[in-house]
Amino acid sequence: MDSAAYVCLGSNLGDRELNLLRAVAEIGRIPGSRITALSGFYDTEPVGPVPQDNFLNAVLRLETCLEPHHLLAELQRIETDVFRRVRTIAQGPRTMDLDILFYDDMILEDADLTIPHPRLHERRFVLVPLAEIAPDHIHPTLHVTVAELLGNLPPGGGVTKV
Ligand code: AMP
Repeated sequence: MDSAAYVCLGSNLGDRELNLLRAVAEIGRIPGSRITALSGFYDTEPVGPVPQDNFLNAVLRLETCLEPHHLLAELQRIETDVFRRVRTIAQGPRTMDLDILFYDDMILEDADLTIPHPRLHERRFVLVPLAEIAPDHIHPTLHVTVAELLGNLPPGGGVTKV
């Protein structure tokens, strides 16, 4: 049986909307995989130490027969080959960032891949689009739903549906 992975997409360089649409199309072409849900697109204020332009973010659900490392390799191939992404400033501007948020109920802590994504529960720009398509999904280590994680965040804004 296929697995369900949730993937977060983000772009703050170039034509952000076109970048997200292109990424959705490319992810839909990953072998053995199909997109079964897609959130709206959200304009989000950057989080972290690097001053930079706002991001456009979305989350999708992918049914896939690829195991997590293979899926990560496919996502990184899209970042690098399709978007010509060069890793320069850590946490800096990027044409496309693709992160695996959840993979079924898997808990994984490898050097190159942590699932669930270690910061998803503290990021409004992830939780708002994720809650749109998977509010009842239970975080496998925190044991609360996505909707509850979002409700538990300190008050704040910076995430606007476009
Ligand atoms: P970034 O430069 O922000 O795209 O970070 C990418 C790095 O995070 C890569 O080296 C990945 O191996 C690593 N990584 C660890 N966990 C994840 C995850 N759940 N999804 C995507 N990348 C991950």
